[in-house]
Amino acid sequence: MYCKNCGNEIDDKAAICPKCGVMTGNTSVVNTEKTNTLAIVGFVLSFLVAIAGLICSIIGRKQCKERGEKGMGLATAGMIISIVNMAFGVIYTIISIAVFGALL
Ligand SMILES: [Zn+2]
Repeated sequence: MYCKNCGNEIDDKAAICPKCGVMTGNTSVVNTEKTNTLAIVGFVLSFLVAIAGLICSIIGRKQCKERGEKGMGLATAGMIISIVNMAFGVIYTIISIAVFGALL
């Protein structure tokens, strides 16, 4: 492709023109350097609010795929942690009810 600023021929994958230093607008390359925000938020939330973490991770994972951003592994981890947290929440609730029922 050609630089839209100086017109020199540059690499198709270049994010910045090596001749004049102007951004080429090659977002697919720029995005691979960026970690998806929702993937990070989803990962953090998965420890705190499992259901919110799961939703953010699913959306974050979808955005990673669509935009070619980093954070796919983070989003997947966020999903797994959220599900495990929710499962523990359910088990904990069942045990609590059972123990409480036995005490009464
Ligand atoms: Zn240029």
